[in-house]
Amino acid sequence: MSIKCPYCQQQNPSSESREVITSHGSFFRKSDTAKVCRFLCKPCGKHFSLATFSPCYRQKKRHLNQRLFEQLVSGVSQRRAAFLLKVNRKTIVRKFIFLGLASYHYLQEDRMQHPPAVEIEFDDLETFEHSKLKPLSVIAAVESGTRRILGFRVARMPAKGLLVRRSLKKYGFRKDERKEKRRALFSEIKPHICEHSLLKSDESPHYPSDVKKFFPLATHMPFKGQRGCVVGQGELKGRGYDPLFSLNHSYAMFRANVNRIFRRTWNTTKKPERLALHLAMYSLYHNLFIIHHPAR
Ligand SMILES: [Zn+2]
Repeated sequence: MSIKCPYCQQQNPSSESREVITSHGSFFRKSDTAKVCRFLCKPCGKHFSLATFSPCYRQKKRHLNQRLFEQLVSGVSQRRAAFLLKVNRKTIVRKFIFLGLASYHYLQEDRMQHPPAVEIEFDDLETFEHSKLKPLSVIAAVESGTRRILGFRVARMPAKGLLVRRSLKKYGFRKDERKEKRRALFSEIKPHICEHSLLKSDESPHYPSDVKKFFPLATHMPFKGQRGCVVGQGELKGRGYDPLFSLNHSYAMFRANVNRIFRRTWNTTKKPERLALHLAMYSLYHNLFIIHHPAR
C-alpha cells in the first residue's frame, strides 16, 4: 500500500513492505457507520487513518452533505435547509462553504473532460447584495447548444439610473469590479475554448477590446440586447428568435434554482463571495445532471 504519512510524508518502499507504515487496527465511525482503517508511521510514531485524507475529514454530519447540496441547488434557502435537515443554521453555513469550494474543484475537473468549446455565449446578469443600491453583476460564459456553463465571476458595480444618488448618499463610492472580473473569467476559460471559436454577446461597448485581447483569432458577434431587468420576468422573455438563447436559458435556470437570485425573493445575498459559492454549486449540478451531454 503506497500511503503517505500526512505528518512526515514518508511512505513504504514497495506495496508489500511494512517498513515505514504499518496497519494499526481500525475504528467505527458513527456518523456514517463506516469501518475506517488506521495506520502507524514508525519513524515519526504518529497514527492516522484513511479518513485523514478524506475531504470530509472531521465532519460529524457528512451523511447530510449530499442532501444539503441537492436542496441548495433546488431553490431551498439555507434557513429552510437547516429546518428540514434538523441541524443548526451554523452547521448549514459551514457546509455551504465546504460544498461551494468542493464544487469549484469538481467544476474545474469536469471542464478538463470536455473538448474545447467552439461556440460560446457570454453576458452579465444583474442582482444585488443586501439592497438594490448595491448591485452585483454576474458575468457567465456558456457553450452554445449544450448550455454547459464554462465559468462565471461575481463583480461589484455602482448603482445605475435613479438609484445613483441614493446609493452614493447611503453607502458612498462603490467600486466597479466588472472589468477586472471579466478579464479574470476570460483568462480562466481561455484554455477551454477553440482558438477559432465564435463568441456571441450583446452589444456592450466593453466587450470587443477584451475579446480581442484574450481571443485574438476568434470571431466576435455582438447582438442587440433584449435584456431583462432586476425585477419582473427576466432573461427568457425576449420575443422570437434569441441569438443568446443558451446563455439566457442558463440565466433563467440560475434564477429558478438559486434562491438568492429568485425574482421577488425574500432571500438576498449578503456577501458576494457566498453568491459565487452558490453559483458554483448550481453550475456543477447543472453541468453534471441537468443538461444533456452528447459525450456521455
Ligand atoms: Zn510519519
